[in-house]
Amino acid sequence: MPANYDLIIVGGGCAGLSLAMRLSEQNLNCPKVLIIERRDHYVNDRTWCFWCTEDSYLKHLPSHHWETIKIKSAQESSYINCKDTPYLMIEAKVFYEHALQKIAKNNRITIVFNESVVTVPTKTNELWHFVGNDEIYTAKTIVDTRPVKIPQHGDAILWQSFYGYEIECANAVFDRNIATLMDFDDYDKTCVCFNYILPTSTKKALIEITIFAVHPIPYENLKVKLEKVISRYTANQAYKTIRTEHGILPMGNKPQTNSHDKSYIYAGLFAGAARPSTGYAFQRIQRWADYCAKAIYQTQYPISHQPDSISQTAMDSLFLKLVRARPNLAPTIFIKLFSQCDTPKLIRFLSDKAKLFDYIAVMLALPPAPFLKQLLIGFFEKTIGHATKKTD
Ligand SMILES: Cc1cc2nc3c(=O)[nH]c(=O)nc-3n(C[C@H](O)[C@H](O)[C@H](O)COP(=O)(O)OP(=O)(O)OC[C@H]3O[C@@H](n4cnc5c(N)ncnc54)[C@H](O)[C@@H]3O)c2cc1C
Repeated sequence: MPANYDLIIVGGGCAGLSLAMRLSEQNLNCPKVLIIERRDHYVNDRTWCFWCTEDSYLKHLPSHHWETIKIKSAQESSYINCKDTPYLMIEAKVFYEHALQKIAKNNRITIVFNESVVTVPTKTNELWHFVGNDEIYTAKTIVDTRPVKIPQHGDAILWQSFYGYEIECANAVFDRNIATLMDFDDYDKTCVCFNYILPTSTKKALIEITIFAVHPIPYENLKVKLEKVISRYTANQAYKTIRTEHGILPMGNKPQTNSHDKSYIYAGLFAGAARPSTGYAFQRIQRWADYCAKAIYQTQYPISHQPDSISQTAMDSLFLKLVRARPNLAPTIFIKLFSQCDTPKLIRFLSDKAKLFDYIAVMLALPPAPFLKQLLIGFFEKTIGHATKKTD
C-alpha cells in the first residue's frame, strides 16, 4: 500500500501548525504533509506571551506589548523596565490565521478538521496506519502533538493551573503601560497563588488567577476566587466578559517517552516544550519547529524537543523543589529575582539563552539560605536513596 503522506502531524495546535509553517517554507522540497486536527474551527482560546529578544520567532505578530512589568506581594511592589526586551502578547486568533495563510500557500500541506486520532497507530511494511472517523491514513513518519489526556498529579514537580477572563469595563481603570506578571495572594498557604493582569487599554484587560500546586486544579474551582479578584481590580464596577481562558501546564514533567522508532516522535507541551520553571512553551515550540523542519529536510525524519542544558535543568529543578516544599517563600523569591537581578540577564535566563554569567547573576539575586537548605535536602535524599538501593 503506498503512503498517502510523507508526514502526518497529529494535532494542529501551536506545535503542529508551527512545524507546518516551517515546512511550508521549503516550497517544492516540502514533504507531503497532513495535519489532523480534532477541532472543527479555531477560536481565540488563548494568548501567548514571551519576552522579545533579538532572535524571538514571530515577533512581528503581537497584538500588544509592555515595557514595564510589575511584581507585587502584600508587603512590596517591584517595577521592572524591560524596554529593550518588551513582554509581547500574541492573540491565538492572530497566530492561527497567520499559520493557516502560510500553510495554504503550499499545496503539499493539507489540514483536515473535525478529525480525531483515537486509536494506537500501527506500523506495517514501513508505514504508519491511523484510523480516523471514516478514513485510514498512512504515512512514513508521524509527529504526534496530542496532549496527555488527564494530567496526573505525580507526573510533574508542580502543576500550573490558571483561569482568566478578558474583560471590558465602562470606565477607565487600568494602566495600559504596565503588565502585572505576579500579584501574590495568600489564598491558600499550601500552594503559590498569584494574579496576572495584562491590560490592553484603560478599560480592557486579561485578568487571570494562577496556582502552582502539586495537583492540577480544575478551572471550575478557581471561578469564585477569580471573580472576587476581578471585582478588586475593577473597583466593583460592572464589566463585560469578552472571553475566558484556562490551562493546566506541567512544570518539571518527565516528557512523553519517544519510541525507539525514529519515524514516530512526540512533540508539544507534554513532550518537553514547557520550560520547567515557568510553564512557558511558545518560543520553545517555535525553536523546535525550526530545527525539526531542518531535520526533516536533511534526513526525512522529524526530531523531538532537545533536552535543556545541565545548568538550566539543575536550576529549574532546584527552584521547583524549593517552591513545592516552601510555597510561602515564593513571593520573596520572585520579588528578589526580578528586582535584584540585572533585567537583560534575567530575560536571557527566562528565554533559555543564559550564559555562565547570567546563571551566576540569577543565583546571586536569590535568597541563599533556603536554596542551600534545599540543595542539602536533595543531596541527602539522593545519598540515602543510593544507600537504600545498595542495601536492597
Ligand atoms: C490558555 C493557555 C495560555 C498559554 N499562554 C502561554 C504563554 O503566554 N506563553 C507561553 O510560552 N506558553 C503559554 N501556554 C503554554 C503553551 O504555549 C500552549 O499550551 C501551546 O498551545 C502548546 O502547544 P501544543 O501544540 O503542545 O498544544 P495545543 O496548542 O493545545 O495543540 C494540541 C492540538 O491537538 C489537538 N488534538 C487533541 N487531541 C487530538 C486527537 N485525538 N486527534 C487530533 N487532534 C487532537 C487539539 O485540538 C489541539 O489543537 C499557554 C497554554 C494555555 C492552555
